[in-house]
Amino acid sequence: MTEYFEVHERDGAARLGEVRLAASLATPAVVDDVLADAGSAWVRERDPPAGDEAVLTVLPHRAFPAGTPGEVQDAFAVEYPDVEFPSAAVVTPETAADHGADAYVLSTAQGIVGHAETFVDAIVATREAIPADTALYLPGVATPANVATLAYAGVDLVDTDRTVVKGTQGKYLTTDGEYFLADLEELPCACPACQTPRESFDREDCAEHNRHALRAALGTVRERIRAGRLRDYIEGQARHEQWLTATFRRLDDQYAYLEQRTPVIRRAEITAATDDTLRRVEIQRYAERVTSRYRNRFSNPLVLVPCSARKPYSDSRSHGQFHDAIQYRAHLVSMTSPIGVVPQELELTYPAQHYDTVVTGRWTATEREFVSDVLAAYLRRNEYPRIIAHVPDEGYRGICERVADELALEMEFTVEGHPTATASLANLASTLSGELKYGKRERQHNTVRAVADYQFGEGAGDDLFADISVESHYPKLRVRNGEGEQLAMLVPEYGVLALTLAGARRWVESSVPTRRVEIDAFVPHGSVLAPGVVDASPAVRPGDEVVIAGPEAVAVGRARMSGPEMVESSRGVASSVRHVEERWPSVRLDCGPEPFEVVDVSREHRLVDGIRSRGDDDVTVVDRGAVVRQATGLPHDDSVGRMDWLRFQNGLYPLAFVGGVTRPGDAVVQLEQRHRRESLLDEVALQLAGLVDSPVVAVHQVDQEGRVE
Ligand SMILES: [Zn+2]
Repeated sequence: MTEYFEVHERDGAARLGEVRLAASLATPAVVDDVLADAGSAWVRERDPPAGDEAVLTVLPHRAFPAGTPGEVQDAFAVEYPDVEFPSAAVVTPETAADHGADAYVLSTAQGIVGHAETFVDAIVATREAIPADTALYLPGVATPANVATLAYAGVDLVDTDRTVVKGTQGKYLTTDGEYFLADLEELPCACPACQTPRESFDREDCAEHNRHALRAALGTVRERIRAGRLRDYIEGQARHEQWLTATFRRLDDQYAYLEQRTPVIRRAEITAATDDTLRRVEIQRYAERVTSRYRNRFSNPLVLVPCSARKPYSDSRSHGQFHDAIQYRAHLVSMTSPIGVVPQELELTYPAQHYDTVVTGRWTATEREFVSDVLAAYLRRNEYPRIIAHVPDEGYRGICERVADELALEMEFTVEGHPTATASLANLASTLSGELKYGKRERQHNTVRAVADYQFGEGAGDDLFADISVESHYPKLRVRNGEGEQLAMLVPEYGVLALTLAGARRWVESSVPTRRVEIDAFVPHGSVLAPGVVDASPAVRPGDEVVIAGPEAVAVGRARMSGPEMVESSRGVASSVRHVEERWPSVRLDCGPEPFEVVDVSREHRLVDGIRSRGDDDVTVVDRGAVVRQATGLPHDDSVGRMDWLRFQNGLYPLAFVGGVTRPGDAVVQLEQRHRRESLLDEVALQLAGLVDSPVVAVHQVDQEGRVE
């Protein structure tokens, strides 16, 4: 249980958080001024400290240097007391566990910094062992150059000790490394310490500058995390020190650690400036999903084209020209570094329209290998009657030939010089002459299904969206079922589907694994906080669609944390909530064997859009929808929900006829929880008896599925 630390934003393993002291501290941060060390238990036994809301108290501890044998650590383990104030426990990667503290101090920090492999292993082991919503503190190691990489790995707290030591040694620190003060002709900084004239700038000033430089670097790091772009920054900045470059590459090898923490969608752009970008989670995940979840549903030939700088590709001039030549006679797949291949249906899907790359027309060997591998995997999975490569010589053609060779596929090449040259476009058009066009409906349906495959898993497109109608103009697609009920809409910014409650119900009923968040007995409004989460699917990633279910409500929303983090955390928003439906306790009125009509149920009508709730008393609105018509034959307008009220002696109660009508003559009435009283049920029966043209024979309480309790 962490009361004094909360994570607000996540960017991979990096987090923007808050140590909730008397004066709150935004992390990643320097803790110098707010740390109180209760002392080492090596020196003498110590009583639990008194603690203080203004500081983070490091509980009495026995620190072990890196490399201390496990049995020694066990023999001298400290039992951490349960305390009521902000506290930190001292751990090693071996002793790290949930000790009930708000923060964890890694005592081996100085032994691991500078060694990429040891560092990454230690951080990953520690971070995985302590609760997600606790802060990780690495004492005595931070510098302006390494702090971005520390934060990227998952470190929240640092101190200025090392910068001060370096300063007194005459080392001047910057984000690009360290300089001997004696070698500097001018001071490349504008901090207050560096206002001192160069000739009188001494080591004390240098230490002061170093502290400023660390704090400034942390400001950059926090801003980068906030923007979701710490990785872009690291790929450039970490290059100034070998071990830092090695560290983020080693972290890429810890794919599971980073993948769990990396959002599946976000607004932030990816800057692809180096080959290292290809190893980012976002890039690897897209390639993995396109080659293992996506399936082409068009029966037309394939046309491979180069990507465009403008995103989405279909908005670009070159793709407009390809489109004019192709005229819906082929399935378009774009080849690109760093994404691999992008089928036309997934051109909006993150990060396909969220990256920016260095356009030189020349690809590195690593890029060529990556795009070849993805294209080969794609073509192994998807068969086409013909494959036309409308690609330029530079890079692209070589890749296509290599893959065609490898898979023994026939490819037709249509470019002469440049892909948008008149001759090339004419070739492309004539190559496709005689091929059939696909229609708008096929295109839209296939887009919805492709996005569903990508987002929910292999086969999801067919399983969830077999019988649909799609309305409105691309990319703002609305998906409805056969009865016209909306299931989902395509979110153009991210190229993913946002489900309605009806869509969520389909997901739950399908064979596609549902990403679920189980909550306590409450009705969430706007969001679900982590303490309300009982359990969550381990597969949930930040940004995923999730079905939220508890005893009193069913909802659909978008996860803000991974599933494991929701379960471990005791603070913070676990998921946003898009639509919510109260699960009301129900009674079934047994109205005898004859079908009946409800007459004059409504004392008051209000028009509502679907399902909605308001804060004021007794105004929870349920769209009784088509079921009313089914149960009673009342006319019903599909686009508008209607709510009915019954006025009882002791108040005004919303009344809804909903599903669970078991046979003609039965109606199921759901009441708000607080009205679920025996006397009230009888009253409802009496009232209803007056409203239906059939006697109410019996009243049963029923469960969610309409079964008699
Ligand atoms: Zn300075």
